[in-house]
Amino acid sequence: MVSRVVFGRGSFNQLSEIIAPKRLNVNAPFIYLVDDVFKGNTWLISRISLAYDDQLIFISVDEEPKTSQVDELVEQIILSHIDRPSGVIGIGGGTILDLAKAVSIMLTNPGESKNYQGWDLVKTPAIYHVGVPTISGTGAEVSRTTVLTGPERKLGINSDYTPFDQVILDPELTKGVPKDQWFYTGMDCYIHCVESLNGTFLNAFSKSYGEKAYDLCVEIFVDGNYTQEEMQDKLMMASWHGGMSIAYSQVGVAHALSYGLGYLLGTKHGVGNCIVFDHLEEFYPEGVALFKKMKDIHGIKIPQGICSQLEDYQFDIMIDVALGLEPLWENALGKNWKQTATREKLRSIYAKM
Ligand code: NAD
Ligand code: ZN
Repeated sequence: MVSRVVFGRGSFNQLSEIIAPKRLNVNAPFIYLVDDVFKGNTWLISRISLAYDDQLIFISVDEEPKTSQVDELVEQIILSHIDRPSGVIGIGGGTILDLAKAVSIMLTNPGESKNYQGWDLVKTPAIYHVGVPTISGTGAEVSRTTVLTGPERKLGINSDYTPFDQVILDPELTKGVPKDQWFYTGMDCYIHCVESLNGTFLNAFSKSYGEKAYDLCVEIFVDGNYTQEEMQDKLMMASWHGGMSIAYSQVGVAHALSYGLGYLLGTKHGVGNCIVFDHLEEFYPEGVALFKKMKDIHGIKIPQGICSQLEDYQFDIMIDVALGLEPLWENALGKNWKQTATREKLRSIYAKM
């Protein structure tokens, strides 16, 4: 679990004060990885105070994190500084948060990041890392994974060293998020809840967080009788609780299929989940019905026909990626999941997207 967290509008102002005691020496910088959507945004950037060798790196999130990108960043950081950094601070959405987690792990662990994709392969603690989400939904701020696309698969580095040492939850930072993206990333949280609450891995710990996050999603996306500020606060807490829920259970069919889309077509996680979830009535009838209602309430159009031109070998790639995520299927369908999740079944679902 994340060991320290602060919450509150304006709490981002405390960042420098919070990390100062973690500075190892003047040659060991803090590295800020910041979504380049904030380039030129003085409201946010002016509140980051750089000292000594500290470095701010703007990162494009046009593509989701890759193992090669992590390795390049780590090399660049090592080559540019005398000492190993004091800490890594990620400021952005799930993409940046995952990059910050992966970079902090790879600064202390040898070899390439692709070798750590999987469960509990990280042996050495990461360097101090801080997460500051600027969009809510993924739960990446709280989870014990960092999802990376590698040469062979899209899979997380799941380990006890992955979670942030410190998270700053300042809902005010989410005020500029465009509406479609707000919905897609918010639905990631909603889908985490549905998959966790309907999964066979569910336990009392996951259930309590999942139910809270689910209720918050209904307040935000169905009821909606709140001020903008209240909606931002609620969605940030929904994301946290949704992430906590899957941390102790697992996601399911939507995420497995969405990873296939992401791997082959580069479809981003939030919108990818929405594209998939729209066709999963068979697995999550109530969850999908409410999703369709939310979509209508907010007038969101989900991209259609993204698989219509694909060839057989491309369907096979997506199916291989999806079926490779065994824990997700076992959570969704139980130990005998292979009887239901056949290649033909997956192909027929992908064909509808
Ligand atoms: P994202 O980080 O790619 O951000 C989505 C878009 O919103 C980007 O264009 C970004 O620039 C913009 N944005 C972010 N904050 C903004 C702000 N305050 N104002 C204006 N624009 C803003 O998307 P995401 O949905 O947050 O994250 C997706 C990533 O998270 C994927 O890589 C996925 O694999 C990962 N993920 C990780 C976990 C985990 O547990 N580690 C869980 C779910 C998803
Ligand atoms: Zn997700």
